[in-house]
Amino acid sequence: MDVSRRAKQIPPSSTLAITAKVRAMKAEGKDVIGFGAGEPDFTTPAFISEAATDALHDGMTHYVPTPGTPEVREAIAAKLRDENGIDCDASHITVNNGAKFTVFLALQALLDPGQEVILPTPAWVSYKPMIDLAGGTLVEVPCEGAQDFKMTPDQLEAAITPATRVLLMNSPSNPCGTMYSPDEVRAIAEVLERHEQVVVVSDEIYERLVYGDEPNLSMGSLPSMRDRVVTINGLSKAYAMTGWRIGYACAPGGDGAVIKAMNKLQSQMTSSITSFTMPAVVVALTEGAEEVERMRRIFAGRASLIHELVKQWAGVTCPRPTGAFYIFPDISSTFGSTSPGGRRIDSALDFAEALLDETGVAVVPGEDFLGPGPRHIRMSFATSEEQIAEGCGRIREWLGQLAPGEAVASSPSSTAH
Ligand code: PMP
Ligand code: GLU
Repeated sequence: MDVSRRAKQIPPSSTLAITAKVRAMKAEGKDVIGFGAGEPDFTTPAFISEAATDALHDGMTHYVPTPGTPEVREAIAAKLRDENGIDCDASHITVNNGAKFTVFLALQALLDPGQEVILPTPAWVSYKPMIDLAGGTLVEVPCEGAQDFKMTPDQLEAAITPATRVLLMNSPSNPCGTMYSPDEVRAIAEVLERHEQVVVVSDEIYERLVYGDEPNLSMGSLPSMRDRVVTINGLSKAYAMTGWRIGYACAPGGDGAVIKAMNKLQSQMTSSITSFTMPAVVVALTEGAEEVERMRRIFAGRASLIHELVKQWAGVTCPRPTGAFYIFPDISSTFGSTSPGGRRIDSALDFAEALLDETGVAVVPGEDFLGPGPRHIRMSFATSEEQIAEGCGRIREWLGQLAPGEAVASSPSSTAH
């Protein structure tokens, strides 16, 4: 049976595909070290899970309001007001089945066919398919490793046209592991002040996982931007709740017009998130700070460790990870070489496939992250320090055994820093 053009048009998620492959190899008893999975290796803190099991046992098993219960929306609004400085109330919030679906709904609610979406790349693999499904036109702004993969105000200014409708930002970034400083966020906002038609979709799902000196600044907290930002967040990453599927958006502009549109779409698609998870969301947001900080510290240690180890790889460069749990090394100096197992490496995909087959180490090839992504691999450090040390050691040894091919042009992002 044939399927629709829409279904044919989009690829499967390559990050989920690698995670599934590693899981299958481990099930077969293979010795695999996985740097693929973009999810915390911790289990959800017990007191959060108990709030859901209590609710389940107490009979919270019926349909709930599409945007989320009043309690959950108030808890989210309070978090965004107190922690992020966003001037909002419960009516500006919608709760959805994972931040992935939240981004999807936001783009569906905002875009008409042909409208342009500016996306600084490398960017998370799912954004492009979501833009395509909403009929938007992708306008990439490629950002090199030498600029920590961050878009400059001039690059943004040059990318804006009368057809620009959305700027899709993700800081801290998947896959880059870098983040915009508060001053850099303000500088981007200054450009946008000159272009009133542009709405920002700001995916801040990694905002709690930061390792530098400066916190995340939410664009939606800037008074000039309040009415033009859809802030996206969720519980997956900070609270180790990926399997729960809980994401949310906040958009105070136009008396919550975008949120109302997202709720209308959600009412026809999934109705709401799972009822008995809602009390757990309230508990996580109101009592979870200590646990979040405990996990953040562990990620911070891993960020330093993996950066130290990757820096030892000959010919490979990458910025220090300052947020999220990814590092995105430039491995393009290996292109043209031959692996110890006799495979020619001409792309990040070749690199990742040969590496997995010959060393049992799984990484995500950078192609689907776009921009300079094809010269990079993504490694998630949501895994133990032992696994990080073992996996990076195997890669280092394997790199040392690559047989050089003809010289390849040096890449612009090969600046060590
Ligand atoms: N945004 C980014 C940048 C992500 O990396 C992820 C992780 N999958 C998500 C959104 C969605 O997370 P979830 O659907 O688990 O809430
Ligand atoms: N965001 C994570 C990742 O990039 C989870 C998988 C996915 O949803 O893409 O690996």
